[in-house]
Amino acid sequence: MSFSYDDQNIFAKILRGEIPNDTVLETEHTLAFNDIQPQAPVHVLVIPKGPYVCHDHFAAEASEAELVDFMRVTAQVCAMTGVSPGDGNPGYRTISNAGEAGVQEVPHYHLHILGGRGLGRMLA
Ligand code: ADP
Repeated sequence: MSFSYDDQNIFAKILRGEIPNDTVLETEHTLAFNDIQPQAPVHVLVIPKGPYVCHDHFAAEASEAELVDFMRVTAQVCAMTGVSPGDGNPGYRTISNAGEAGVQEVPHYHLHILGGRGLGRMLA
């Protein structure tokens, strides 16, 4: 499977420092920042710094260091924002839209972390 990365997408511009972002956590391989149009009290986007279009691309081509870092940053953000379900906290939802059917607007892989309110049973 092949993926073509458009380096003019808005998250690529954020990673190059061409437009600002509200950073929550940054590591060597991963950036987490607040969504500009939050859909919940906690709405953080986690992105790899590498040029990956979607989850499938990232899973297939990222190094183990990038993959592990992405997972750990996601968990750290959930802990930092108080939504990790341990210790009686309420929990959260992660979503990754992929491609046209998934209504992925920004073609740089990202995971939405949503929390801070009841999210209901709906998946879409
Ligand atoms: P959708 O908009 O359908 O959720 P995506 O899954 O591609 O599509 O999500 C893109 C997300 O990026 C949206 O939640 C949008 O609010 C957010 N976004 C767009 N531009 C910025 C920006 N400059 N800073 C932070 N978040 C942004």
